[in-house]
Amino acid sequence: METEIVRIDPGRAREPESREILRRAGEIIKSGGLVAFPTETVYGLGGNALDATASRRIYAAKGRPSDNPLIVHIAETADLERTAVEIPESAYALAARFWPGPLTMILKKHPDIPTETTGGLDTVAVRFPSHPVAQELIAAGGGFIAAPSANRSGRPSPTTAAHCIEDLTGQVNMIIDGGEVGIGVESSIVDLTEEKPVILRPGYITPSMLREVLGEVETDPGLDAAADLPPEAGSGNVPAGPGPKAPGMRYRHYAPQGSMLLVTGDEAAMVERIRQETAQALAQGKRTAVIASRETADAYPGGVRVFVAGSRHDPAEVAHHLFGILRACDEEGMEMICAEGFEEGELSRAVMNRLEKACGHNIVRV
Ligand code: AMP
Ligand code: MG
Repeated sequence: METEIVRIDPGRAREPESREILRRAGEIIKSGGLVAFPTETVYGLGGNALDATASRRIYAAKGRPSDNPLIVHIAETADLERTAVEIPESAYALAARFWPGPLTMILKKHPDIPTETTGGLDTVAVRFPSHPVAQELIAAGGGFIAAPSANRSGRPSPTTAAHCIEDLTGQVNMIIDGGEVGIGVESSIVDLTEEKPVILRPGYITPSMLREVLGEVETDPGLDAAADLPPEAGSGNVPAGPGPKAPGMRYRHYAPQGSMLLVTGDEAAMVERIRQETAQALAQGKRTAVIASRETADAYPGGVRVFVAGSRHDPAEVAHHLFGILRACDEEGMEMICAEGFEEGELSRAVMNRLEKACGHNIVRV
């Protein structure tokens, strides 16, 4: 398949020139094709959510296990009612506060959404993104776009069009380059189908933000599971049991090709441990990297490739850079990667969740 790459300036998404491109992109979606596009969180790999065949194509293009459901993207809150049934008041309250924005809700599935889109589940994940290109594409594509992150399964989520081009050239009909995304980690997912709301994936919308609207909210204890399944395990029957509740959170994700260690705890002890680990790796002749904070970046020995993810006090900055750095580790052939833990502030939970998965739960607490 030939992949057309087009460029849209997000600030001009509603101007005639952009609309013409988006109209063509919408036609691709309506006729069952696939378009990668920017959202405020990460790039999405979009197909018509109402079309079972389009959803199957998404799984194939990503190499994603077909029991890992897709998020349905809508461009107006009213379309929630064409996506889900038995919608609780809490969903409308969350929509009023956080939509459009980086929050995904799990609700009972509407019969019009094929089970191919929901990975066989009778629930559906729904989000109304705030990115203007995403909104215009959804509208042009018929209103319902199923879109997982636009990476090959297992790889870090894409935060630039270059990442999508790397992973999906030949697999999708079009890639819309809208520049670098703003947030850099995927949406928060909250399950509203149980008695109490549960966070299935931590993201930019933090537990305390959700609590302001919902009162009580829990975080899925399964997120602390100590191991992830390889994507190849997804044969349509993920073993039930103690793992995370969101099927996608059970799989290995984001892992760079080199081996990776996450070190958390007291700052001085953490730096000291990483100095030891990296010195040892260098002595073995390994290409060695550290994912560091700005505050501690100078502490590592010469010869180590230091990636500065952001300030220790600003997890949003770290979130913004993280996936790009994980990809750069591969591009630069890093064989051993040590990451500092980032544990300051509520948003750090989202960052740490991605790091824990990236290192395959190879974590040292000092
Ligand atoms: P991605 O689109 O790559 O950000 O992945 C979507 C995430 O949403 C995966 O972790 C899915 O398992 C999760 N998800 C989608 N639909 C549901 C659902 N109905 N119930 C629970 N998790 C879901
Ligand atoms: Mg993903």
